[in-house]
Amino acid sequence: MQPPIPLDQVDRPNATRLPVAGAETLRTHSRMLLLRHRRPLIGLVLLQTVAALAALAGPLVLSRAVEQVTDSTATTTSINIGAALFLGALLVQTLFTGMARMRGALLGESVLADLREDFVARAVELPPSTIESAGTGDLVTRTTTDVDRLNWAVRHAVPEIIISLVTVLLVLIALIITAPQLAATWVLAIPPIVFAVRWYFKRAPRAYRAEMGSYSTVNSDIAETVDAGRTIETYRLGARRVERTDDDIRTWVSWERYTLSLRTIFFPSLEAAYVMPLAAVLALGGYLYAADVISLAQMTAGVLYTQMLIEPVDLLLMWFDELQTGQASLSRLLGVHEVSIPETDPTIDPHGRDISVDDVSFGYREGRDVLHGINLVIPAGQRLAIVGPSGAGKSTLGRLMAGVHAPNQGSIDIGGASLASMPTEKVRQHVALVTQEHHVFVGSVRDNLMLARTDATDDDIWNSLAAVDAAEWARALVDGLDTTVGAGGSVKLSPSQAQQIALARLVLADPHTLVLDEATSLLDPRAARHLESSLAAVLKGRTVVAIAHRLHTAHDADRIVVVEDGRVSESGSHDELVAADGAYAALWRSWRDEG
Ligand code: ATP
Repeated sequence: MQPPIPLDQVDRPNATRLPVAGAETLRTHSRMLLLRHRRPLIGLVLLQTVAALAALAGPLVLSRAVEQVTDSTATTTSINIGAALFLGALLVQTLFTGMARMRGALLGESVLADLREDFVARAVELPPSTIESAGTGDLVTRTTTDVDRLNWAVRHAVPEIIISLVTVLLVLIALIITAPQLAATWVLAIPPIVFAVRWYFKRAPRAYRAEMGSYSTVNSDIAETVDAGRTIETYRLGARRVERTDDDIRTWVSWERYTLSLRTIFFPSLEAAYVMPLAAVLALGGYLYAADVISLAQMTAGVLYTQMLIEPVDLLLMWFDELQTGQASLSRLLGVHEVSIPETDPTIDPHGRDISVDDVSFGYREGRDVLHGINLVIPAGQRLAIVGPSGAGKSTLGRLMAGVHAPNQGSIDIGGASLASMPTEKVRQHVALVTQEHHVFVGSVRDNLMLARTDATDDDIWNSLAAVDAAEWARALVDGLDTTVGAGGSVKLSPSQAQQIALARLVLADPHTLVLDEATSLLDPRAARHLESSLAAVLKGRTVVAIAHRLHTAHDADRIVVVEDGRVSESGSHDELVAADGAYAALWRSWRDEG
């Protein structure tokens, strides 16, 4: 069966997806993880060595008994001693295997915890533009499906591979020591195993990566369709989206089929390879015993050890295969390390609060700028409204001023410090973007607010809630600030309460400049007046840049800037612009007449 696309094209970088880590990153991280967890790893190997050594005693005792019985030298005492030894060895093996499995699971969990923490830490550092172009679906698949698959591999495959490896090695040594002539029969199995393993592992890792990538695409496209549901309905794009999702699913299923076909060839070939040494040991052992070259005890131990080898070799390859899926997921998780994060300087500090936008151009795609040579100076405390036709670039300019994107050309400074050269946390201390999207995280009310300032005291939190008129309902909550809110929480907040929490976070974070983009457009109409006064409390004393989708917001501003086709076409107060009778006056008249 052929893969949906040639395997050598699988790892080609895709501009619209987050990257997948290359072999070098994978090696460096795996080595780092092994080093960090070396103690429990060594402990695991030692425990399994004891368990495997105890397992070797069984065939030895049994072969001795067989020989004594055939020699007629067996006595009740010798058989009893043999049985006691056998039982003792079994007990030790059970005990140590149990401990090794438990240690393995613990090791797996701590490795996984490291990987998860590392992923989250890196993911939150990614430039928002990278996440936007990759789509959140890709990131979500990596944090859910990939983490689950990796979980399985790390918790089970890694310890089981260690356990099987130790067992195979020790049983092989035991076989070589007791019956070297019979050990040679494994030579028969090696060529077909090596051939099958090489054939499989040449194809499997890339095929698994492609399978997971195609699953991620299914997720991303479904998430995008749901997010853009209204737009899709408006433009009647439903059928096209369904067709696209069908295509995605077809590609994913083709990859699933392809990897399944690889497994259906690989595993039966291995099974066949294992049977060969067992048959050969029996035939060769019988011949050598008849020719008096080996003893009956050697023959018995040889057969038992050969049989004992099959299971761990089989497990080793099976878990190695599981590890491939895990490795593919790991490459996707570590892929976030391949995204270059713009260099910033934590020592830069703004001196003052004035904002200056200096000859700024920006485009989401190369060669297609949506903003062209914008120049603006916003003195501290000014209320600036940005107006203009739809698609003119207002939101884009707002996002640049909030430091979400860095300009392709020119610079945006706050108090003389360039936003692009400050770390995100530092930018957030000075300027925040407020949109209609607000999120209540699963956790207590306190957790939700302390996200904005980790050192906030309960007094600070109550003050911030009071500032946005939310203290009253917050005090009435059963557990006060400890009440769990968010999805599945004990209390479900209303949309306006959720919005107040978002505003209280702003009060706590206390940035001196706010960029409002449609912040009030989705206000619950019944609560709108109430919330607008909460918002007014937040805006007090701050520089405000409002992307004005409704012109009455602009009317109240100190200054209005009109953006048309990515350029500032007019600037002045409401009265000045109406008097100038330009683009703003026209917008104002049509808005007033509509109203
Ligand atoms: P509206 O009032 O309709 O929100 P706007 O003036 O705020 O419009 P922007 O949203 O800034 O305009 O969009 C400016 C241009 O950039 C538009 O052509 C838009 O299609 C494009 N654009 C906006 N966001 C993105 C994005 N994330 N990726 C690619 N292009 C984008």
